[in-house]
Amino acid sequence: MSLKKTELIKCPKCGKEHPFTIWGSVNTQDDPDMRYKVRSGEAFRFDCPECKTGVNVNYDILYHQPEDKLMIHYCTTQEGYDEAYAILTGEHEDKEPADKALKDLLAAGTEDYVIRLVPSQNQLREKLTIFDNGLDDRVIEFTKAIVISNLANAKELAYDEILFLMGTDGSYAFELVNQEGSLGVVPFEKALYDDCAVKFGATIPALRDDPAVVVDLAYVLQKVSAEAQKTGVNVN
Ligand SMILES: [Zn+2]
Repeated sequence: MSLKKTELIKCPKCGKEHPFTIWGSVNTQDDPDMRYKVRSGEAFRFDCPECKTGVNVNYDILYHQPEDKLMIHYCTTQEGYDEAYAILTGEHEDKEPADKALKDLLAAGTEDYVIRLVPSQNQLREKLTIFDNGLDDRVIEFTKAIVISNLANAKELAYDEILFLMGTDGSYAFELVNQEGSLGVVPFEKALYDDCAVKFGATIPALRDDPAVVVDLAYVLQKVSAEAQKTGVNVN
């Protein structure tokens, strides 16, 4: 079941308050139109009915797509993120999750689920783009590491995130973004992804057998260094 509540949002331009729906959790079987609204960003957009100003409203959301056994938890604060991480990785087995949506979901069972924890709306949408297209986010992160290491000026670009993008024509790219917006897009060939799926895929478990909930560049580095130790290759 989805959990939502209505809160008053004060328009930053005209100062008037209007009701806005905050989704603590979304279950796409109960609310199928949220599938689209989370992807488009509409779920987070408040449009002032008075002056038409649009604002992005940031809130924690547990996105659950039971038909695909997919769950993505987006936390807006470090504290919430750490708490969710501990619960999702079983560190808090003795503790009742404060988050009711998460508690209900875990109680219902998550066997064969792909579960991810993300620290930004961008990464929530990125994960959805990846899984919608039948790709593996772990391989995407590995591909990211390769593409970025080949970017001559990567160090000078003050980016916060590198996000996978898929063009309407099916083309692949990574977008470098920071708080100001996009710094640029680096296209890459699907063949590179396929190559990484073979190389990196051999070192990781099947997607639904992997207990990892945070899949980012750190995940890749940890796997690569573990593999290097196993084979005795020096990665320094
Ligand atoms: Zn307004």
